[in-house]
Amino acid sequence: MENGNVAAIFGEKVFNLPTMKARLPKDIYKSLVKTISEGTKLDVSVANVVANAMKDWAIENGCTHYTHWFQPMTGLTAEKHDSFIQPTDDRTVIMEFSGKELVMGEPDASSFPSGGLRATFEARGYTAWDPTSFAFIKDHSLYIPTSFVSYTGEVLDKKTPLLRSEAAIDKAAKRVLALFGKFPSRVVAYVGPEQEYFLVDKKLRAKRKDLLLTGRTLFGAKPAKGQEMDDHYFGQIKERVAAFMKEVDEELWKLGVLAKTKHNEVAPAQHEIAPIFSTTNISSDHNQLTMEILKKVANHHGLYCLLHEKPYEGINGSGKHNNWSIGTSDGELLLKPGKKPEQNIQFLLFLAAVIKAVDDYADILRVSVATAGNDHRLGANEAPPAIISMYLGDQLAAVVDQLKSGKGIKYEEGKIIETGVEALPDIEKDSTDRNRTSPFAFTGNRFEFRAPGSRQSIGGINIVLNTIVAETLTEFAEALEGSTNIQKDALDLAIKTFREHERIIFNGNGYSDEWVAEAERRGLPNLKTTPDAMPHFKSQKSIDLFAKQGVFSQVEVETRTEIMMEDYNNTRHFEMLTMLEMAKQEILPACIKYTKFITDDLASKSALGLSAPNETVCAQQLTNLTEDLIVKIRDLQNAADNLPNVDAFELGMYYKNTVLPAMEALRAVADTLETLVSKEYWPFPTYTELLYLV
Ligand code: ADP
Ligand code: MG
Repeated sequence: MENGNVAAIFGEKVFNLPTMKARLPKDIYKSLVKTISEGTKLDVSVANVVANAMKDWAIENGCTHYTHWFQPMTGLTAEKHDSFIQPTDDRTVIMEFSGKELVMGEPDASSFPSGGLRATFEARGYTAWDPTSFAFIKDHSLYIPTSFVSYTGEVLDKKTPLLRSEAAIDKAAKRVLALFGKFPSRVVAYVGPEQEYFLVDKKLRAKRKDLLLTGRTLFGAKPAKGQEMDDHYFGQIKERVAAFMKEVDEELWKLGVLAKTKHNEVAPAQHEIAPIFSTTNISSDHNQLTMEILKKVANHHGLYCLLHEKPYEGINGSGKHNNWSIGTSDGELLLKPGKKPEQNIQFLLFLAAVIKAVDDYADILRVSVATAGNDHRLGANEAPPAIISMYLGDQLAAVVDQLKSGKGIKYEEGKIIETGVEALPDIEKDSTDRNRTSPFAFTGNRFEFRAPGSRQSIGGINIVLNTIVAETLTEFAEALEGSTNIQKDALDLAIKTFREHERIIFNGNGYSDEWVAEAERRGLPNLKTTPDAMPHFKSQKSIDLFAKQGVFSQVEVETRTEIMMEDYNNTRHFEMLTMLEMAKQEILPACIKYTKFITDDLASKSALGLSAPNETVCAQQLTNLTEDLIVKIRDLQNAADNLPNVDAFELGMYYKNTVLPAMEALRAVADTLETLVSKEYWPFPTYTELLYLV
């Protein structure tokens, strides 16, 4: 794009509303739009016409293939491409695409994680078109966003339950709004994810097996200059990085992704990209595309994009702030306090629903961000701790406190007229965002969940958020339906909820040790690692929640937990093996060679009658550390050789309690050796090179 006209390229690779309108008969277009905006079922006859128009458009834009694009439980996306060709009688081909092919596909499901579902059910799964997320063109294929389910209807992906959770929010919020005499056609959940990432020189990365195989450095001494100078955050963007970012933006715009903000982050070589928010389903598809485009475009610039939560020890990790809110089809944001929140009973009730949801289901929310990578980040003085708490901001906290205390509340003719909290500044303009240490902060008209990891699919996170809030809204609707004085009863319920759940509100420094102690006193769960957190996802409370809201069946909850646990175990397993390989094949030989370089020198000096007592000390130190390195390699090898034959959850504990400490001990010795061994001998690029040669 030369002339800077984004509007001219925005969505050019998307089968979006203008394209549909231009290419579909009026009545077909109308019923498709109805399906998209209201979630109504699509007529089969409509699908044929849509498919044909899509195919013509795709072929005109250089496509030969189409693919059902889906999101298996790996957290990544999957695709299988079929060409449009159809043989004819005269042995030529024509290009065809039927409604049936658009609506349903049958990829072989047997190699995707199913957490045991495969054993119980048919191995094959099918993909089903999600018309609410537009089809798009990438690499000469037409991409059709789809759900992925087994033949018996069990979900095998992250999209189907996300759509179900959106339906749950829609239903529950509409019940509550009806009490206030409001009847929007839909209530939707929105998310705007802020994506952090690191860039590293592609050639340097290729020299490190750890980055290549696990996405993070398993070894590496601290660089002379870390992030202490704070000179990178929002700093000038380097030329190569700027060129990369420009291309990323353009690619995303063409795909209809609302890429909006880009800047340098806290750590060297760390950056962020954020889109304008959209519905949780579309945003989740777009975030997957964003992660993919970041990787692809980096490659064009001799770079590699690291999406791992903690690529470098001692340097800030990467998260994905999940800005979440709910709104109606009439454009009303339900978490927007307005000028007088203390009098906005509907807002207070929705706020209470979120507070109750986060407190009641803090453990399940914690699981939604539990991954091996994120374990290194949460609570590591750069990200919120593993304890889930909420921050409301000064103004809103004052309103809630006032209401809780019951002081100064007068209630007259269906509204509160006095709260004692006079002359509040407009909350939306106020920087409610000042507390950066809270995992779940109110930021004006939404909540910012800061615990998610950079590499995670936001699908799983928003399934949980949507479901827990749908649940508390449902409870509120059940309690209030039939009320004869809804304003008063709703306010009473909100105040009761604020009182009962005050323990979840914390406005202080979430990074401090005092908070850990205080949270324990309050009885808040502190699930430090993935193996600690994971079993909570299959608790009876969790099973009941997801079943009641129609998001997961019991079997789906259980299999999903199993898959998440296996993912943790596999990650640790490959890290362990990669570490052993690097230590044995690269680090140990380098240390021995370098020690020999010194001892050879000492021998020749000694032959000449020269004395070098200090150099001898160096040689002794290297020898001792190398001996220690061998011991630590042996310890980790022992841990690897003695993996217990237990279930995934116990195995997770073994990785956490036995393998990880052995990995850390090995790393400590190797990192010390790195600071002593000559650069010429060290087998791979150091932190300084990785972080500064971008
Ligand atoms: P920050 O100060 O955290 O950088 P921004 O204004 O840049 O905040 O917004 C961060 C993200 O929050 C963006 O993706 C933005 O679109 C999103 N966002 C803004 N308002 C809402 C909302 N009501 N619901 C969901 N996401 C929102
Ligand atoms: Mg933010």
